[in-house]
Amino acid sequence: MYRFKQGLSAADTGRLPANIVLLLLLLFSGACRSKKTWPVSFPQEELRKRLTPKQFHVTQERGTESAFTGEFTYHKDEGTYHCVVCGAPLFSSDSKFDSGSGWPSFFDLLKEESVSLADDFSYGLHRVETTCSQCGAHLGHLFDDGPKPTGKRYCINSASLAFQAAGPDEGRASGSSGAVTSGKADL
Ligand SMILES: [Zn+2]
Repeated sequence: MYRFKQGLSAADTGRLPANIVLLLLLLFSGACRSKKTWPVSFPQEELRKRLTPKQFHVTQERGTESAFTGEFTYHKDEGTYHCVVCGAPLFSSDSKFDSGSGWPSFFDLLKEESVSLADDFSYGLHRVETTCSQCGAHLGHLFDDGPKPTGKRYCINSASLAFQAAGPDEGRASGSSGAVTSGKADL
């Protein structure tokens, strides 16, 4: 009556192996989704203090700001757009264009490796999520309907970006919440 088993089956092997299989499945799917380890990480409490609620929601909870509400949608200054969380340079104003979508749109990256791509099946759609390769901050999505020469459209939340103007005062990035300039904390 001995039967050679092909793989694991809950009926043949009892409760424990089935639980292990379930655990492995959970671990595996978790590793493939957003639980990836990034080179740079920040304590969530620090980010809650440093970022605005919208910046936190978009970058840490994969949120989306409402169309036409972001501060960089129509921003045309020359400079570099950085990750608002870790400061990594992501986009140049040279590749920014008006897509009409209501979000800042870029047709290219500063560096290919600065943004990571992943499948996103939320809302019953298949989209390609864009994430900061340094800290894992959610940025927005990538579409294939951009202008030449790349044909790509990086549709990015303003809330994920900090702008650094080109010119003499390079080295100062705007977009981060300002430090206290007057008065000192009593603690
Ligand atoms: Zn980042």
